[in-house]
Amino acid sequence: MSEAQRTIYLDHAATTPVDPRVVEAMQPYWAGAFGNTSSIHGAGRAALKALEQARSTVADVLGCNPMEVVFTGCGTESDNLALRGAAWAARQTGRGSHIITTPIEHHAVGHTLDQLHDLHGFELTVVDVDDYGRVDPDAIGRAIRRDTGLISVMYANNEVGTIQPIGEIGAIARRKGIVFHTDAVQAAGALSLKVDDLNVDLLALSAHKFYGPKGVGILYVRRGAELVPALTGGGHERGRRPGTVNVAGVVGAAAALKLATENRASESARLPALRDRLVKGVLERVPDVKLTGHPTGRLPNSASFALKGVEGESALLALDLEGICVSTGSACTTGEAEPSFVLTAMGLPREWAVGSLRLTLGHLTQPEDIDIVLDVLPRVVARLREHAPMSAMN
Ligand code: PLP
Repeated sequence: MSEAQRTIYLDHAATTPVDPRVVEAMQPYWAGAFGNTSSIHGAGRAALKALEQARSTVADVLGCNPMEVVFTGCGTESDNLALRGAAWAARQTGRGSHIITTPIEHHAVGHTLDQLHDLHGFELTVVDVDDYGRVDPDAIGRAIRRDTGLISVMYANNEVGTIQPIGEIGAIARRKGIVFHTDAVQAAGALSLKVDDLNVDLLALSAHKFYGPKGVGILYVRRGAELVPALTGGGHERGRRPGTVNVAGVVGAAAALKLATENRASESARLPALRDRLVKGVLERVPDVKLTGHPTGRLPNSASFALKGVEGESALLALDLEGICVSTGSACTTGEAEPSFVLTAMGLPREWAVGSLRLTLGHLTQPEDIDIVLDVLPRVVARLREHAPMSAMN
């Protein structure tokens, strides 16, 4: 058996393999129809046609007008454009400089808002989440001020999989006339992306999370939502994201999003059964372990745990030696274990929050993978506990 066949990949929230049908859809746009979409000659027009077709495909999935779809360079860029663009526009139009968010956003959102605060003087209100990582829409409502210009709440959390009540929060924002952004990077392929049901004005996606290519992001921008471009340059993407368009990439992103939407029902039926068997097995076989995130209101492919007294990164590396790929939200950047900021915000003490472990299932996951993990993980955790007792981590 080859090395690749023996690897059990349980990190689909980090990235996914490109679907062969997506590779095929992209193929003509590397060396054949390679034109620049801004060129007005035949080669350029062929590329532009492919770009606009991709935009329509994405718009169909989101239930919006193609003009409201902007292609970017990644999910991070979509979030940056949304937040910086909407914050600056809110200030420019006199709407205000106050922004509401949560403590468990991905760094693409959290660090962008921190910079808006630190360098540009925007005021932030960070609304707490509960023990499951869920934000209360009423708490968002209570945080709204006369000068609130923007609300940003992620659709589903990347570490613990908890799904937020985006439609309800969006309804509150809409009643108050406040621009509402959601980072939906982890939601594509698992949850509905219909922007009108979600009441969102800005929604960010990243193609490599749903079996599309890396380096392509999508940003939905509701008609009328003001956005100051974060990049300045030519007039691409109606001036909202200048830069020569990655035509093969956007064609791949659109094909992948369409496939992910078509496969949503079947994957949402297959994955939770496997995921639940994994969760049950881990809780039964590993002592001092907690399921993190909401027990039911979570992404269908997401199993996440906190291991008491075990560093998440050590568990990740030990599992990697056994050919199992997983993730942790607890980094070990300075030689000392850093607790996961998501688990900390959910109220877990340090001795648990350093032991974040995320296993995310996907197209590659087979039932026998779960059996292997349930055999290996208890041994790995027992060994780590034996060799690195908790006191060593304080
Ligand atoms: N937002 C969330 C919730 C994510 O999980 C990620 C990637 O892990 C991003 C944003 C960033 O996306 P990208 O890797 O395309 O920049």
